[in-house]
Amino acid sequence: MLKGKTAIVTGAAKGIGRAIAAAFAKEGCNIVLNYHSSVSEETIKEIEGCGVACLPVQGDVSDFDFAASLIKQAKKEFGSVDILVNNAGITRDMLLMRMSEEEFDSVINTNLKGSFNMVRHVSSVMLKQRSGVIINMASVVGVMGNAGQANYAASKAGIIGLTKSVAKELAARGITCNAIAPGFVETDMTAVLTDEQKEKMLEVIPLKRYGKTEDIASTAVFLAENTYITGQVINVDGGMVM
Ligand code: NAP
Repeated sequence: MLKGKTAIVTGAAKGIGRAIAAAFAKEGCNIVLNYHSSVSEETIKEIEGCGVACLPVQGDVSDFDFAASLIKQAKKEFGSVDILVNNAGITRDMLLMRMSEEEFDSVINTNLKGSFNMVRHVSSVMLKQRSGVIINMASVVGVMGNAGQANYAASKAGIIGLTKSVAKELAARGITCNAIAPGFVETDMTAVLTDEQKEKMLEVIPLKRYGKTEDIASTAVFLAENTYITGQVINVDGGMVM
């Protein structure tokens, strides 16, 4: 069903983004792989090994003009943009009383503004096509809040508001927009947590295991295949949020 479609995945050099890019490649999608600092040959080979094309594009999604050029390059190379996954994200954890303006701004700019930038520019392409799938990466923290993550939680809550508004604006043209809210997934982002923090996390996960990047990737594929789900936040969190 997704064979021959074009999927853009932001921040796809590692972690959840890489798994999502690989999952769409396995479904036969050509991949526009946005990366920030670097991407390994192995990552690109994994995608091309699925018999699809991979266009790696370096850049910062918080830059409005870069987001425009990324969409333009995807359209030029593959003729359409069918799926956009706004995955790029960062954390700069700090208690509110000590959080600097830079720590707040950088997280909002990458996570929330970066998603806006991409959605803003892809919308004209998808509106003309009268089809498209947008998937934004939120977090359970955007629903529940988290001490030490006021910046990150605000960015993810903002992504949920963005998702629902975009879903309402674009639905009439057959475009869906949903968010995935992962719980605790083992990646570089969570590797910085102490063993004590990780054990505490496990206590509040009813399924008693951390998420795998594949758990999120398969949800993204599911959302891309379903044309009757829009404006939803899908928690993929082992039951943390019920
Ligand atoms: P990760 O391993 O740290 O990967 C994040 C990716 O985003 C990296 O490849 C990074 O590239 C890229 N990135 C950062 N800033 C960027 C920018 N300005 N422009 C383009 N790319 C940028 O994190 P992850 O765990 O896979 O997280 C992926 C997404 O899932 C994020 O949105 C995160 O908030 C969300 N999430 C993760 C978890 C979890 O438990 N892991 C839970 C809930 C939500 P560089 O390293 O080169 O900067």
